[in-house]
Amino acid sequence: MVGTRNHSSNSSAFAIRSGGHTPFAGAANINNGVTIDLRAMDSVNVSSDQTITSVGAGSIWKNIYEELQLMNLTVLGARVAGLGVGGLITGGGISFFAPEKGFACDNVVNMEIVLANGQIVEANSHQNSDLFRALKGGSNNFGVVTRFDLQTFPHGNFWGGFIFYPGSTVPQQLKAFENYMDPKNFDPYAEMFCASGYDGATQSFLVANGIYYTKPIANPPVFQPFTAIQPKLGSTMRISNIVDFVTEEESQQAVNSRLWNSTVNSIESVAGIKHFIIFQRVPAALPGNSLGLHPSKGPLVLCLLSITWNSAADDDLVNHVAKTLIDNIERATKAVKLFGNFKYLNYAANFQNPIGSYGQKSVKNLQRVSKMYDPTGVFQTGVPGGFKLFTPQLT
Ligand SMILES: Cc1cc2nc3c(=O)[nH]c(=O)nc-3n(C[C@H](O)[C@H](O)[C@H](O)COP(=O)(O)OP(=O)(O)OC[C@H]3O[C@@H](n4cnc5c(N)ncnc54)[C@H](O)[C@@H]3O)c2cc1C
Repeated sequence: MVGTRNHSSNSSAFAIRSGGHTPFAGAANINNGVTIDLRAMDSVNVSSDQTITSVGAGSIWKNIYEELQLMNLTVLGARVAGLGVGGLITGGGISFFAPEKGFACDNVVNMEIVLANGQIVEANSHQNSDLFRALKGGSNNFGVVTRFDLQTFPHGNFWGGFIFYPGSTVPQQLKAFENYMDPKNFDPYAEMFCASGYDGATQSFLVANGIYYTKPIANPPVFQPFTAIQPKLGSTMRISNIVDFVTEEESQQAVNSRLWNSTVNSIESVAGIKHFIIFQRVPAALPGNSLGLHPSKGPLVLCLLSITWNSAADDDLVNHVAKTLIDNIERATKAVKLFGNFKYLNYAANFQNPIGSYGQKSVKNLQRVSKMYDPTGVFQTGVPGGFKLFTPQLT
């Protein structure tokens, strides 16, 4: 199938960039081609009835939250300040509101897209509805999204922050996380991730939990199994606003490090190494997107392996260890029949196949929509970066 969709020459190849946070090279930039950098498209406009916020596809979430906060409003977006709108939404999008409201893409009411033939179209549940669904998980495979219209709702301060513990508390953390994931303890306002790993700077193992309750209620019962764990190394838990929380999250991320999804036990000597395994709940499975999730498949836990390091000279070693570890985790979870096939595109490494993990039905539909809106395959071969729809794994 790829053969029938050959782009005439790669000299016209291009990349689409919003916030540029994809951790691997080539997804949002390109050598010997043109990068369409959307960062100047950063408008934020709220409708007069305050129910819809229209954002340029190159906006970053912190700026959007800042504008909305002035009106005590918010939208579903990233938990980290500097992430872009375009990549986060077209890949799904996990927000502080994920357990209650699903993925950020589920809360988009309309998108404006430039198609391969240059036509500018709107996609929503009435107009180009198949394209609308495809773009909710289908990434850069259909066009350049230039504007997103986001459902907007009143929201004020809430409880959140980080709690740090020594690595020795991991068994207690896992027990508490199991309790959090138990459907009978489900609380739609409780979003968190539990990160444990090795920090090369301090040569120590530690746990860092990001905990958020989207109401101004401190230490609700759903999080008490975590807050009761001792000893603690520190805590920033407080009632505050979303801009404060996303800024704090950004400060916890390594800047200008090499970032990869992985974890290891044999790379402690790698310069600048931080390697963490992070557990978080997969957002509520709502209809209308292309992610292939269904409530009957859940509740699911996302396992994100996150490594940062300093030098390109260590890439091969870290990548090898990452792949090995992922294989081992998959094998172990399959052996106990707890493997879930879903791979979150926005967290996936470039050797993984997140679109394939949406399932045959969704993949076939994405391919059909691609042929309808982009019959010559401009976004398949002319935009080589990111995760494509007609790879051998998918056809
Ligand atoms: C520190 C950090 C924290 C993170 N936290 C979260 C989180 O809280 N929740 C979450 O869900 N994810 C999170 N992620 C993952 C994040 O969602 C992805 O990295 C996402 O791709 C970022 O979007 P971007 O616009 O910045 O990326 P980009 O790298 O600019 O784009 C990502 C992909 O989308 C395509 N794309 C971008 N804009 C458009 C457009 N307008 N039209 C068509 N295609 C487009 C690009 O071509 C590229 O392939 C985090 C990542 C990092 C590094």
